[in-house]
Parts: sequence; structure tokens; C-alpha cells
Amino acid sequence: MSLWLSGIGVSRGVVIGRVHKVHSGELDIPEVEISNGQIADEVQRFREGLAEAKRQLSDIREKIPASAPPDIAAFIDTHLLMMQDSAMSDAVEALIAERHCNAEWALKLQRDSLVAVFDQMEDAYLRTRRDDVEHVTQRIQRILLKQDRPLNAPRGKNTAPAVVVADDITPADIIILHQQGVAAYITEYGGPLSHTAILARSLGIPAIVGLHHARRLLSDDEEIILDGEQGHAIASPDLQALEFYRRRQARDARYRRMLSRLKKEPAVSSDGQKITLLANIELSEDSKAAHAVGAEGVGLYRTEFLYMNRDRLPDEEEQYEAYRKVVSAAHGPVTIRTLDLGADKQIDSGRSHSGPTPSNPALGLRAIRLCLKEADMFRVQLRALLRASAEGAVRIMLPMISNLQELRQARHIIEELKVELRAEGLAFDNNVPVGAMIEVPAAALAAPMLARYADFFSLGTNDLIQYTLAIDRVDDEVNYLYDPLHPAVLRLIHMSITSGQAAGIPVSMCGEMASDPRYTHLLLGLGLTEFSMHPSSILEVKRIIMQSNIAELRIRAAAVLESSDAAEMHERIAALSNGH
Ligand code: PEP
Ligand code: MG
Repeated sequence: MSLWLSGIGVSRGVVIGRVHKVHSGELDIPEVEISNGQIADEVQRFREGLAEAKRQLSDIREKIPASAPPDIAAFIDTHLLMMQDSAMSDAVEALIAERHCNAEWALKLQRDSLVAVFDQMEDAYLRTRRDDVEHVTQRIQRILLKQDRPLNAPRGKNTAPAVVVADDITPADIIILHQQGVAAYITEYGGPLSHTAILARSLGIPAIVGLHHARRLLSDDEEIILDGEQGHAIASPDLQALEFYRRRQARDARYRRMLSRLKKEPAVSSDGQKITLLANIELSEDSKAAHAVGAEGVGLYRTEFLYMNRDRLPDEEEQYEAYRKVVSAAHGPVTIRTLDLGADKQIDSGRSHSGPTPSNPALGLRAIRLCLKEADMFRVQLRALLRASAEGAVRIMLPMISNLQELRQARHIIEELKVELRAEGLAFDNNVPVGAMIEVPAAALAAPMLARYADFFSLGTNDLIQYTLAIDRVDDEVNYLYDPLHPAVLRLIHMSITSGQAAGIPVSMCGEMASDPRYTHLLLGLGLTEFSMHPSSILEVKRIIMQSNIAELRIRAAAVLESSDAAEMHERIAALSNGH
């Protein structure tokens, strides 16, 4: 009998194959007390384990296929860098000496304290970086305990595609599984923003996460259909399901072939309007992937990553190098967002930080507020950004602007720094555009005023929706209220676009809404002409744009905004999005 299971689909695609369970080999970490005289030997044992872990990862890195997207290596580098960080070496050695404990236990203590910090982070993406801490410590612990993870390749006479079913999968595991030709995977834990999920999307491996008890419910070698878009897994499917999904596979293959032909096509609508498609990137290496799918530049470079997993802030030279690298690799303007961290996300970056954790970090000292308060840190970043602007088209983007004063203050600092750089004989673009993210309702409502002081706007819908609807974007309990189509959200988006356009400044959108093909028609109708998104969504959104008559969509979108109630509004949105 068929068994239908549901999890979170994090990487699209349909695979029909056989279950291959990977046993977790869960670690049981012993706590052993050691004497003063044993400390030096234990530290040495830890160092050897750490060195072996680095060797293993370097080996995996070497084996990355040349055809893989460039960010794959970057993810392995993240783990290698973590192993080099003093939080993973000095801190663990200190714990061995202070607690008189074995290396495995010291690693566990250090892991617990790092994970506790990540768990408090308000940003969903940064919060999922706890997985990296988990994966890195486990790798070292397994070596120390001589308990290898049994990631054995699917074997036997079975030639059907293998669908790996595991408790959790690390980014390094994903590369090994990819080399072994694994077609898809299901995990019991994990979320859509984890590195592993991002890698699965980059490598095009369909995947479902958060499918609880999958290992108990599925049997080895059982036939299975995995639908990575809907998050469905069907074990021992009947003929009807098999036929349905085979047709889906054939249709998907045709669709992908058609999309890849659009790489070099301009994003022009059927009534001749040119739309700009930009990429969101997190790592400097991502800009190459962005160019590969025809992105015309970078609409959001999240610089937070430069400040993470370290015990001191990146200095001007290091930041300059990172920004310069992105600017020279991109084929078009690069919009670099200044640091978007909150008070609770700073502990590992060497900022002096005191006082209790705020109870509402999303409403606290975050993003531009933090930067203006800690102006010395902000100035270092701005100097590096200005210097990078001499290497290519750079746009400086300020996150979480909620009033004119913040924008003017930031601009004032930028002007001061230009004077400083000029006096030092350092090059920069005197006309570097400075823009505001519109991600707080106050900014959208005050957009006509802000537009006088901003060179561009970028709509951060992830936060705009959170703040407009008063729902924490990372709280599962209220996730059901997170509605990009809420009439209030649409009105704020529309107001921001029209205010920017009336002032003659470009308006783009870099929140997730821009990358979701379900909203492309509506956003075009609301007047959006610049979309910024993860590179993997660009071709699909481009296809919709090329088939759209924007003049017509604008008339329909105006009717949507005038709907008298939410039900009518949703009906009109559905009709508009389906093109009738
Ligand atoms: C947003 O809020 O929409 C955005 C792009 O920024 P982040 O997701 O990094 O907060
Ligand atoms: Mg934001």
C-alpha cells in the first residue's frame, strides 16, 4: 500500500527511485575526567583530531567536480575556516585544561555555548548557521571517537536513482552524495535556509527536509517518489501516482531546456518594456553564478557574512578586498548593503557588548541603528565601500531606514569620509549612489520624503511583511500570518514604487517576494522594474516577464488595489497571476 508523507520541499524536482537509508551513527559523547598530568597529552590528541578533520575536508574540496557551481567550494571553506578559528581551537584547548576533561567533552561544551548564541539570533539565515557549528564539531568528535559516519554509497544490482533518507546531512555530505550519484534526499531535521538546502538547490538535487520519523516510516530499497517542490514523498506508489509523476518529470525536463535558452535573452515584456534582473548574493564567489544566468548586476550583497565566525571585526583592507572581488567579478552595478546585524548577533565579532539581550531584537538596535551608534565600526565599512567604488559601479544600500534623520546622518558620514580619502590620495567614485532599503512601514509611508535624500530604493519585503503584519518572521507559531499578498503590504509596496518613480529614482525589490514566480505578474502590475533574487530564480522570472503585457497588468493591478475586501482582492490577484 502506498504511503504519502509530507515535509518541507527545499529543492525542486521530481525523482522516482529507491530508498537508501543512511544511519546516523548518533554520537554518544563520554565525559572523562583527566588529571593535571594528562592535560598536555589530551590537548595533543585534540590537535591531531582537528588536523585530521581539516585534511578530510580539504580532500572533499579537491573532489568537487569542476562543473559544480562556485559556491560549493565556499561552503566547504566556511567549515575549514571555522576549524581554524580560535573558537574551535584555543577555546577547546582552554576547556580541556580548565575543566580537566577529555577533548570530545570539551568540544561538546564549546558547541553548546556557540549553538546557544546562534539560537538567539533573530535573522533566520544567521540562526541556521548553528548547523555549521554542529557539523564541524561532530566531524572532529567522530575522528576522536573513531566513529566514522557510514555514508556508504548505494550498492547492489539496483540501478534505480537513490533517494537518501537521513536524520540530517552536512554540506560536506552533500558533496560526497553528489559524487556517488545520489539523486535526491530526505532529512528528518533542517530548514529551508540551511547551507545544506542552499547547496541542494545549487547542485539541482531535489530535497525534502523536516520529514519527521522518515527513517522509521520508510524501508530500505522501497520504491519512492520524491517531489521536492511540494515536499511530498510517496512510498510504494501505485501505478496512477507513478504515471502522474513520470509525466511531471518529462514536463520539467522540457521546461528546463526551454529556460536555459533564455540566458542571453534580454528581460523585455511582450509590450516592449525592459525589466532589470539582478542577483542577491551572500558570498563574494556567488557573483560568478549570478553572471552565468544572465544577471545584470547585484541587487543585494549581504555583508554580514564578513563579520561572522570570528573574534575580531574585519578591518578596512580585508573588507576592501572582499568588495573589490565582487565588483570586479560582477557584470553590472553591485549594490552592497551595509552591515545588517542586531545587538544579539555581535558577540563573536569582537564588539564590546554588554547588557541584557533585548526582548524584541527585531525592534531593537539593528542594522542602520547599530551602525550609527557604533560609528567607528560603520566608518571602517564605508571607507572600504567607497574605495571599492573606484573599481566599478558600486551602490551603497542602507538597511532598515525608518526616518529621514538616519539617512541624512549616514550620508553625512559618507561625505566626511570622502574628504578624508581625498586627503589621503585614495580613489573613490564621488557620485556613488546611496540608497535606502524600504523594509519598515514608516519608510514606505514616508517614501516621498526619503526619496529626496536617497539615490535609489530597494524593497526588503522579508522585513516589510514582518513589521507591517507584526509577525516575527522566524517564529513558526505565527508563520501562517506571513502573507505577502496582504492588502496592507501591497499598498505599501505600491506607495514605495510610485514615490520613488515620482522622484525619478530607481526602485528595486530584493526581498524573497521578488524571486517567487507566483508574484511576478502582480509586481510588474504594481510598477516594479527592477527585481533582485537568488540566481537560481532568474530565468524563471525572466520567462514570465517576457510573456507579460505590462500595460495590461498595470490596469489589473490598479483594480486589485481598489478591491473593497481581502477576498475580492485575492480573487483579482489570482486572475491577474494566471493571466486571465
Ligand atoms: C528583506 O528584509 O527583505 C531583505 C532583503 O533583507 P534580509 O532578508 O537580509 O533581512
Ligand atoms: Mg531585511
